Amino acid sequence: MLYESTRQAKATMTSSEAILAGLAKDGGLLLPDHIPQLSAQDIEGFKNLSYRDLAQNILSLYLDDYPKEALDQACGLAYQSFTDPEVTPLRTLSSALSVLELYHGPTYAFKDVALQILPHLLVQAAKINKDDRHYLILVATSGDTGKAAMAGFADVNKTSILVFYPKDGVSQIQKLQMITQTGDNVGVAAVDGNFDDTQTGVKAIFSDSELAQALDKESIRFSSANSINWGRLVPQIVYYFSSYAKLRKTGKIKEGEAINFVVPTGNFGNILAGYLAKEMGLPVHKLICASNENNVLTDFIDSGLYDRKRPFKRTLSPSMDILISSNLERLIYLLSDRDPDLIRGYMDQLKNQGSYQLEAGHLSKLKESFWSSHCSDETTVQEIEKTFQDYDYLVDTHTAVAMNIYRKYQDKTSDNHHTVVVSTASPYKFTNAVAQAVLDEKDRQDLSEMELLERLSKASHTPVPAHLKDLDKKKIRHSRALKKEDMKAFVQDFISKD
Ligand SMILES: *Cc1c(COP(=O)(O)O)cnc(C)c1O
Repeated sequence: MLYESTRQAKATMTSSEAILAGLAKDGGLLLPDHIPQLSAQDIEGFKNLSYRDLAQNILSLYLDDYPKEALDQACGLAYQSFTDPEVTPLRTLSSALSVLELYHGPTYAFKDVALQILPHLLVQAAKINKDDRHYLILVATSGDTGKAAMAGFADVNKTSILVFYPKDGVSQIQKLQMITQTGDNVGVAAVDGNFDDTQTGVKAIFSDSELAQALDKESIRFSSANSINWGRLVPQIVYYFSSYAKLRKTGKIKEGEAINFVVPTGNFGNILAGYLAKEMGLPVHKLICASNENNVLTDFIDSGLYDRKRPFKRTLSPSMDILISSNLERLIYLLSDRDPDLIRGYMDQLKNQGSYQLEAGHLSKLKESFWSSHCSDETTVQEIEKTFQDYDYLVDTHTAVAMNIYRKYQDKTSDNHHTVVVSTASPYKFTNAVAQAVLDEKDRQDLSEMELLERLSKASHTPVPAHLKDLDKKKIRHSRALKKEDMKAFVQDFISKD
């Protein structure tokens, strides 16, 4: 199998080269030249596999130039860091509804599922390609990605990682998680600006030719850990199969029965992995895309018009606050039967005019697989409360958006396929909003996020996650604050210290 750019359709790269490159040279995203197919029998057989073995199975279909033992080792190392023995456990709330908990990794957000394994895939890829350079990973984060990427790359040989976050753009817990990160190869800095400023700064560093030359002399290469990298997408396909296998194993669904997934969506990485699972043969009825008030994807799935010309809203589900969902490019490429000219046209229009319109044929194909809706912050908080009352089950703000969109979907369609709501973060990561929903005002008044952890634990009879408990007592290791203009100097400093 070879990999091709969505903007060129010439398959030239091996999977390990695709993972090292991150992005195609022409600015497109990388995809395999075909989607591997699984039979009903294969899928039925997944019932008897551990998460690790299933992951190895799925990964080997796509990463076919990796030695089998290398993948096995990577899966072993990655998933042993999860606190739940099942890695991504499935909780059944009713005969029609289950929740897939993706947040039992070291940083309590679903990004761990991919970022715990990406460093191993990257190191192996360098080995396969006899690439002896040191990899410097640059990350701009709105909270979850930065911490998850550091947790994955900390003390991984021949790599270092630098994370930039917007000074006032992350929660107290997210900030504490980042500034207390250990590891000799990590660096963190707060940037005076918003997430867009931070991301723009990182992109500028990536394309700085003076820096590139300096790096080359030191035999260092930049790389990225965000969800445009194929090495982040492919591990996410696994849990769609694993949740299906669990429903089969417990007899909640019949062999071959189709189910729905509801996915809280931002950059379209998670839900795209669901689409790939469906295209591989997993019986999926609908993929339901749940958005917050940044509802650009809902409009797109309704009308085919992608229009980013709208105000950016800061919401209680910040990991979904995004107006340009990068991975959509991969979906449209597949829907159009791999038409790179079309993609280049759309991406030009998006860049220059801020919008593009999908043609009718592709839109109806999109609607065969997808459904979408969105909800407000107020509804999100109400949904946390309702879910807690109805099921005695605590969800974070992102998962609450998905729960609400599922409710809307059922009202509109009366569809009763078994549905899996994909839960992307621990409720303890977004304590303010969760406390507002489930605690009386007198029990939460004037308390900090750290103080609220215990209160939430008492109310829900669930333990505070181990690494969050004493977060405010951990040593602060990264207190640098920078102006936007000084990000490059920070990178130069970091390199010269290495
Ligand atoms: C990143 C993230 C999302 C969005 O996932 P995408 O793959 O970007 O669509 C949703 N919820 C949480 C908690 C996240 O961290």
